[in-house]
Amino acid sequence: MLERLRTGIRDVADFPKKGITFKDITPILSDPGMFHASIDLFLERSRGKKIDKIVGIDARGFLFGSTVAYELGIGFVPIRKRGKLPYKTEIAKYSLEYGEAEMEMHIDAMMAGERVVLVDDLLATGGTSAAAAALISKVGGQLLEAQFLIELEFLHGRKKLQPTPVVSFLKY
Ligand code: AMP
Repeated sequence: MLERLRTGIRDVADFPKKGITFKDITPILSDPGMFHASIDLFLERSRGKKIDKIVGIDARGFLFGSTVAYELGIGFVPIRKRGKLPYKTEIAKYSLEYGEAEMEMHIDAMMAGERVVLVDDLLATGGTSAAAAALISKVGGQLLEAQFLIELEFLHGRKKLQPTPVVSFLKY
């Protein structure tokens, strides 16, 4: 099934800018078998772990993360790019290829000590998910694991997440 899922990832050259090969997961989403299989990969990792909440990263992390949370019967927390969340937030800065960006999470998104798993479609340099991990830690959540459908291993993003365990299903 992993090999079939790989066929659902479309490489788009020079998007969003020159030199970047974008891993487009929309062919997976639009295929019922592949979408189901991708969710099952996350579910198999998370069942039995006594997780209180899934935290998903803006925007493709919402697609996978919220579906996983629904299936596990637990809550979902969105981490968004700055300026999108309406209530009081914690903010974490992270670096992009050029310059900096900020992610936000509502201050009451989880209770201190809650056991959470972070979900996103892809781990690249790790800056985004490290910012998400910092936000979870700011509000006292316990980050058990970070899970990604795809990992671009040559960018060594999992180093930025240390000591959080990192799991990815399709490695490039
Ligand atoms: P990073 O902070 O470098 O680990 O980037 C991870 C975030 O950017 C994830 O939310 C991804 O969806 C997105 N991203 C980064 N690089 C790519 C890529 N080559 N293809 C698709 N999405 C990417």
